[in-house]
Amino acid sequence: MAFFRRTSLTACLMAAVCTITPMAAEIGPGVSSLSPGDTYAEYQWGLENDGSLQLVEIRSRFANGGSAYDAPADGPHSGLPIPTGPGDYEVLTTNAAAGVDIDIAPAWELYDASQTNRDVVVAVIDTGVDILHPDLRNSIWTNDGEIPGDGIDNDGNGYVDDYFGWDFFYNDPSVFSMGSEEDTHGTHVAGTIAAGRNNGGVAGITGSEHVKIMVLKALGTSQGVGSPEDVVAAIHYAEANGASICNLSFCSNVYSQELADTIQNSSMLFVVAAGNGDESGTGVDIDSVPTYPASLPFDNVITVSNLMFDGNLASSSNYGALSADIAAPGSYIVSTIPGGYGFLSGTSMAAPMVTGAAALLYSYRPDYSLADVRNAILGSARQMDTLTGKVSSGGMLDVGAAFLWTKPEA
Ligand code: CA
Ligand code: CA
Repeated sequence: MAFFRRTSLTACLMAAVCTITPMAAEIGPGVSSLSPGDTYAEYQWGLENDGSLQLVEIRSRFANGGSAYDAPADGPHSGLPIPTGPGDYEVLTTNAAAGVDIDIAPAWELYDASQTNRDVVVAVIDTGVDILHPDLRNSIWTNDGEIPGDGIDNDGNGYVDDYFGWDFFYNDPSVFSMGSEEDTHGTHVAGTIAAGRNNGGVAGITGSEHVKIMVLKALGTSQGVGSPEDVVAAIHYAEANGASICNLSFCSNVYSQELADTIQNSSMLFVVAAGNGDESGTGVDIDSVPTYPASLPFDNVITVSNLMFDGNLASSSNYGALSADIAAPGSYIVSTIPGGYGFLSGTSMAAPMVTGAAALLYSYRPDYSLADVRNAILGSARQMDTLTGKVSSGGMLDVGAAFLWTKPEA
């Protein structure tokens, strides 16, 4: 059995100390809760980047190898030496560039004024999702043909009590493991797509009114691993139960013919993570070093690279002029995690930006096919010099522009 490795990594792999600074506040990277008084929207640079964020990394000069990289015998086993003087470390500062964001405001204005938005179901095939999270619970798809907890497959679809989706990893109806951290990844992905808007917390791209998340857990354990067979089963479930767009924030170097065929033959649109680089965390060209499903060359796949808030690809982000399609914010993204909020970085966080945008546009334009949605998103990508030759569209996600895209005459 081949294993998938989920694609989320913390962005500062070699940093001993790492802070991100909006205004005067200081918060840490990785999954860390914010204090209750914080306004999460301030940190949502992916949606609106006013240029005020700053990333400060203190990197050991020994970080790239050597005996000094070993953890001190009697110190914290961080894997990094403790700087003993100014010569031992360097400080790297990355400033945000105002306007490097997905331009959501004009799209929301059009969307909220429309009376014809249709309902859309987005399948998140990932770890589980905290379906009780206050910022997510109104955004979770439920199977109305199923009575939960009665031990009967009421709708006859082969899954007993699949009211909130299904856990293909453990093969049971529970899509969230309370008290465990193994569902952090999927909860974060779901929040970027569809967390409630204007209800405190974070704002998902679609909000909860017309777009629902179908939770299909196919990755488990604290490493977020899974099998192609479980992902294939989840894709079939998604399609059979009304999903039209599918987020796949994972990848594997092992090719599965069955998974490739299932995606190619599906009527759904797949938005997939490009992957987070090689074993040292350095982004690679997935045209020459393929990873799956990111490198699958199908018309119903959008592969997404991870953009940093300064307008450059994150150093860990995979790319590929043919295989990667578009970049989207994926570094230091704040979203829902079980019981709270936290930051994650990686192409796993960039893909749901595009998934949310696709779902919002598909809802807004009932006359559009999923192919139209893909063409609109890629055709309206904001061209950036940093992305030329890196992604097929040459640009980053621009939802405002996608809403104004006009379909070519047939
Ligand atoms: Ca059932
Ligand atoms: Ca039942």
